[in-house]
This record gives sequence, C-alpha cells and structure tokens, in this order.
Amino acid sequence: MTAAAAAEIPKAMKPMPSALKFDLEAKCSTTKARASTLRLPHGPVKLPLFMPVATQGSLKGLTPDQLAQTGCQLCLNNTYHLGLKPGQAVLDEVGGAHVFQRWDKNILTDSGGFQMVSLLKLAHVTEEGVRFLSPHDGTPMLLTPEHSISLQNSIGSDIIMQLDDVIATTSPDKARMKEAMERSIRWLDRCIDAHKYPERQNLFCIIQGGLDLEMRKECCEEMVARDTPGIAIGGLSGGEAKDEFCKVVHACTDMLPEHKPRYVMGVGYPEDLVVATALGADMFDCVWPTRTARFGNALTPAGSLNLRNAAYANDFGPIDESCDCICCRSKENGGLGITRAYIHHLAAKETAGAHLLTMHNVYYMLAMMNFARKAILEDRFPAFVRDFFKEQYSEPSKFPEWAVTALKGVGIDLLAE
Ligand SMILES: [Zn+2]
Repeated sequence: MTAAAAAEIPKAMKPMPSALKFDLEAKCSTTKARASTLRLPHGPVKLPLFMPVATQGSLKGLTPDQLAQTGCQLCLNNTYHLGLKPGQAVLDEVGGAHVFQRWDKNILTDSGGFQMVSLLKLAHVTEEGVRFLSPHDGTPMLLTPEHSISLQNSIGSDIIMQLDDVIATTSPDKARMKEAMERSIRWLDRCIDAHKYPERQNLFCIIQGGLDLEMRKECCEEMVARDTPGIAIGGLSGGEAKDEFCKVVHACTDMLPEHKPRYVMGVGYPEDLVVATALGADMFDCVWPTRTARFGNALTPAGSLNLRNAAYANDFGPIDESCDCICCRSKENGGLGITRAYIHHLAAKETAGAHLLTMHNVYYMLAMMNFARKAILEDRFPAFVRDFFKEQYSEPSKFPEWAVTALKGVGIDLLAE
C-alpha cells in the first residue's frame, strides 16, 4: 500500500498492534461454546475462564502465593483503587502492579469509570470524561479516556479496558442509552490514541447499547472495525432480567469475530458462567465468589452452603468432598485438611475462616470452568451442562426458567430425560 493510500484509511480502521495470541482449540458441535488458549505477556491462560477480582491489588485476605495456589493465571485489579493508592507516581517508580504486588501472572484492569459511577453518587458524565468529587477531600476531579489509559499504562496490566459511558441497562431513557453507546465509541478512539504500550498491553473495547439489540449491533460493527486485541460485552449485570442478559450475550457473540477473546463483564454466579459459555463467551469476572466467602458461603457442585449454619458445627468432612483445593485436600495428600466444622467455628469471629473459604471458592470457580473447557474439547459440553444443573438444583422443577430458555436457544434441552 502506498503512503498516500494508507493516509486515506480512517485512523480507526488501521490495524492495531496486539500483545496477545488467541488460539481457538475447539468449538462445541451443539452450542456456541468455545475452548481456547489466550497467550498473554505473563503466560498462557485457558479459556473459558473465571477471573477473580483483587480490588486493592490483593484478593481479600490472600497473599499472591495463596492466589497462585488456587490455579489463578489472570486476576483483576481496579484502576480506580490503585490510582488513588498507591497512586500513579508510586506505580511508575516501582515499575507497575506486577512488581508492586509480587504477582508474576497476568492482570486485567478496568477503566476506573464503573467504580466512579457506582461508588460515587455525584459522578457526572460529559463528553470530556467522568466528573466526580474526590472521596478524600471533595475536590472536583475528572477521569478522561486519556487519564484512564495513562493510569493503566502505569499499572502495566496485560489487558486494559477502554473508558466507557456506562448507564444501567434498566434505564428507560433510550436517547441517553444511544448517547452513551455512541460516546463509548468516541472514547474508544481516544483510548486507542492515548495508549502508549500496545505492544505489551492489550486494549479491549466494550460493547454498549443496553438491552436494545439494534444498538448493540451498531456498537459491535463500529468497535469491531477498530480491531482491538479483545472485545468485552459491557453494561450487563446491572439488575436486568436474566432473559434479557442472555439475549444480549447471544446477539453480540453472533456478531463478534471468531478469532478474538470475548469477555462478559461483571458476571457472575456459577450458572451464569455455564450459560454464557454456551452462548459463546470466553471470559468472566465477578466479586461474588470472594464476597460470599466472607459471609461463610462455600460454593460446591450441590450449590452454595452456609457453613455458619449450626448443622456444620460437628461436620468433620471437607468443605467439599469432590474439591481438590489446598483447603479441602487431606493432610496426607499435601493439603490443609480443613473441615466444615473448623470453618463454622472460625466464621463468626476470625478472618482466617473467610481467607480459607475464599481460596476454596476461587478454586471452585476456576475448576468448574476447567471442567467446562475439558467438556468442550471432548465435544460433550451439552452433557456437562445438564449434569451441572442437575447437581446444583437437585430437581428439574427448580431449574431457573431463564437458563432453560437460553440453553434451548443453543440446542440444549435441560428438561429432556
Ligand atoms: Zn476446596
């Protein structure tokens, strides 16, 4: 191509450098589920994948070693929190969040925008960026796409997210929804321009458009043309009906290129992950598995168990019989041999109980996605999905209707004998 011809291509359509490699290994022959390997600067990760959220640069109560023991290869950090403390100057001085946290695996950071809108009631969005009052001293501050990317460049995360204009999917204001979707596209262009290290940090765009499938389509077309290394479906898990959530994921994955990772943000419960995987999504994050651990809830194939319940006071079995995490594994097998009774005993008064359960819950989520991945590779994913729901909900009458409907849409009949 001549220089003159290149100059005529709109800036947004120029190929963007990428610091990842996406190997699609298998596709389910019934559903839209995929198994792949995502090669990132800090090592390969197997998809589909759950990513735990380490808000302040640490997963509540866990050391980086303990997090690594759960098998985690990619965790989330919050740009907003790291930007406040230790702050950009300290991050630059130390050489980024990997060194700061002694975490040599991958990190994904959000843009910081969502935190502001959700945490700070006074956040106000303009074309320039998100205006808010400092939670420290009330001084007016502004998060622009450029500032968000600059912070994420200083953090040095392997995957960085564009700043987007997020509004609740349940908002009835169509005009505002359209404005937010179009602004998110303009902000993506500003993020691409501001990104200093595309050869070592992967920028993901975020598809917006609320529950309106036409708007989602328009956004997909525009953003896919920008050719970012990965693509996120955003704005969901904001209180919309699960049926609507599934429709959006289903519609978006139909429009997204096959050779790029697809990340559904802020999801979720184990059944959400299984269904969204069937709908063609690859990556998920949620604070719930770690947050619920602090309330004494253990995730198991048979559903969530509240170990604070008196019934567990003298239950000397492991948290989950089938689990191979360091807490559940017996002493003889190199584990800690933690019992339900011990967690019950600690849960009320000691944070150690929450730490142990956090490790178990993260391990459970990672292992569950690994089982899903294995099933996709062996082309028996529909059987995996049916077994998963049978175990979680003891009987078909308890299956959530939205899951039955969504899975039927991709060829799995949960209620069939
Ligand atoms: Zn366990």
